[in-house]
Amino acid sequence: MPVSVAIVGSGPAGFYTADALLKSGVDVRIDIIERLPTPFGLIRDGVAPDHQTTKKVSAKFERTALSDQVRYWGNVEVGRDVGLAELRRMYDAVVLCVGAPLDRPLGIPGEDKQGVLGSAAFVGWYNGHPDFRDLDPDLNTSAVAVVGVGNVAIDVARVLVKTEAEMAASDLTGYAAKAIRSAPLTDVYIFGRRGPVEAKFTNVELREMGKLENSVPQVDAAQLPDGVGDLADRDRRLKERNLATLREFAARRADEKPKRVHFRFYAAPVEILGGDRVEGLRLERTRVEKGRAVGSGEFFDIACGVVIAAIGYRADPVDGAPFDGDRQIVANTDGRVADGLYAAGWIMRGPTGVISSNRADGVAVAELVGADVPEGKKPGRVALETLLRERRVRHVDYAEWKKIEAAEAANATPPAPRRKFVTVEDMLAVLDEADERSVG
Ligand code: NAP
Repeated sequence: MPVSVAIVGSGPAGFYTADALLKSGVDVRIDIIERLPTPFGLIRDGVAPDHQTTKKVSAKFERTALSDQVRYWGNVEVGRDVGLAELRRMYDAVVLCVGAPLDRPLGIPGEDKQGVLGSAAFVGWYNGHPDFRDLDPDLNTSAVAVVGVGNVAIDVARVLVKTEAEMAASDLTGYAAKAIRSAPLTDVYIFGRRGPVEAKFTNVELREMGKLENSVPQVDAAQLPDGVGDLADRDRRLKERNLATLREFAARRADEKPKRVHFRFYAAPVEILGGDRVEGLRLERTRVEKGRAVGSGEFFDIACGVVIAAIGYRADPVDGAPFDGDRQIVANTDGRVADGLYAAGWIMRGPTGVISSNRADGVAVAELVGADVPEGKKPGRVALETLLRERRVRHVDYAEWKKIEAAEAANATPPAPRRKFVTVEDMLAVLDEADERSVG
């Protein structure tokens, strides 16, 4: 009997795991279970809407989805439609690939004010994730503060300052485009609690900020060190490139363009200012000692109407799986969680790395499954299918996703690649209409 594997989550970790299992030589049948009707997780809802090239990896995932050994089960939520314990009873192996979808709190006073947003929510909003499409942020402000100096902070700042023409070939949702376009925004501040060498953004993303039509990057040359310090060769090259780019930015004039993105380092947020609404951010100047930000006791304020915390994500505990509250991941040893239960990607190791970093996780889990489960003993797909039918769960298969995808493409105004549906109801309505047409 083939080994039955349920993969929970259809983002990069889920698909790289499926791919690795297919290539492992084990005779497997894989079911990829996804909460939304739409597959690909952060490829669809996290990667910036103007970075369409990055999204092309979904073509590779599609080849995996179309394998005879793989079946996609969209619109099926583990914990709502089927329990994790049930899945473990039905499948020889269950792999959790559910990512880290929640915002980490800043943990400073004033965080509950209107206008304080986490990047998971804000990015989810502009990308049309059904969970966040009602966020409706009030962008009626001339200044936005973004906390954190990683790639997500850069994504957020870039999407806020790019022109309509620069976003034309993106799949930014219409409501977000409208809100951003009509905002009186002139200045975005990106705050790093450590220095430019410790910043997490990568150089391609940083350089892009110097090439925008309507916005100029601003850097205080006095914050840039002469060198990057003692680092391994690869790190050294990356950091030197970032420093060189930041030096170029330091020479740019503030009045070159109507908007500015200010990179401010050595500044840790300590309080959100204002009444019910955000009116500013208070920060403490820092210095870096042994790699850590140390407060100087000197504070400064900036006026802003929105604060976006782009400080990394945290996982949502999965009912029935042990959780490591310190690390905010499912408790696991190199991907092994419990007998027949595994994890890969951000839920396994935390929210770091690029899309392809998940490939190694998938390979590692496939090896574990191969070693632990030499032959299949559990029914897998047949049992899932029966259970979902009994519970009348309206699942979406891969062919149906392709219909949703085709409708999104048909609704787009070129050169935009798609106009996303942003509610599950609208996605399912496409399928109901297609059914009616085929009956009629
Ligand atoms: P990240 O790279 O971990 O950056 C988080 C930033 O937040 C860091 O600068 C961190 O500073 C700062 N931070 C954390 N807690 C803070 C606090 N309490 N106060 C102030 N600052 C705080 O996370 P991310 O930007 O969310 O990105 C997640 C992953 O996705 C990364 O691996 C990223 O490269 C990847 N990604 C890649 C792309 C791309 O390739 N284009 C795009 C988006 C995301 P410290 O360093 O001091 O902790």
